[in-house]
Amino acid sequence: MRKKIVAGNWKMNLNLDEGQKLTSEIVNMLKDEHVKDVTVVLNPPFVHLYPVKKLIGDTPNLFLGAQNCSDKASGAYTGEISAGMLASFGSKYVILGHSERREYFKESNELLTAKTRQALDNGLIPIFCCGEPLEIREAGTHEDYVKQQLTESLFGFSPEEISKIVIAYEPIWAIGTGRTASSDQAQEMHAALRNHLAGKYGKEIAEGISILYGGSCNPSNAREIFSKPDVDGGLIGGASLKSRDFVEIVK
Ligand code: PGA
Repeated sequence: MRKKIVAGNWKMNLNLDEGQKLTSEIVNMLKDEHVKDVTVVLNPPFVHLYPVKKLIGDTPNLFLGAQNCSDKASGAYTGEISAGMLASFGSKYVILGHSERREYFKESNELLTAKTRQALDNGLIPIFCCGEPLEIREAGTHEDYVKQQLTESLFGFSPEEISKIVIAYEPIWAIGTGRTASSDQAQEMHAALRNHLAGKYGKEIAEGISILYGGSCNPSNAREIFSKPDVDGGLIGGASLKSRDFVEIVK
């Protein structure tokens, strides 16, 4: 069965005290809730990784992730963080290709292949983000647009490698806007992406890949969106900064 995953993307928010407080609250709530069948991931900014990892400790089903990694293994790349460093700090996941990185840091599909390669080679699970801008949705070419993101970045990986990747579909018009995709729009895209993966890697592999939805998920819409057969959880931005909201979404 596919893993159900809820990952919090803190983006560039919270100082050290705030990040520690949020993590402690989430750890305590998850202990009380005994949420057994959901993998929960916290993706804080790099500088929080170590303290957050310490607070997570051995909390069942709760894992550490980062928001980005370098496309290079090591060397003279001032300011960069390698996948190997993230793994050595106890990260298990890494978000790659978030639309904010694609837009503000000009990350291309080709660069994301190299980042995914680094993540996989260092034992990290990539949460590979894809999604269309509003004008593409309005033009009705959104499925082709998102399929092409997967083709160009991921279809060079082996069947064994692709099986390790988590996909996050995040329509850009829904990120941080309070406007979610409807559950039917999410299901339609997720099914199309799974079909696309099946076309390249076969049905069995495609059925095993978790596809998360992201974009204005909150405690009042998560249940409906996650109830769809091809939606395997969510990548949560704003609502992941509030412990109660985040744990409600997990539940
Ligand atoms: P949002 O962000 O939940 O604040 O819309 C989602 C994301 O960017 O991953």
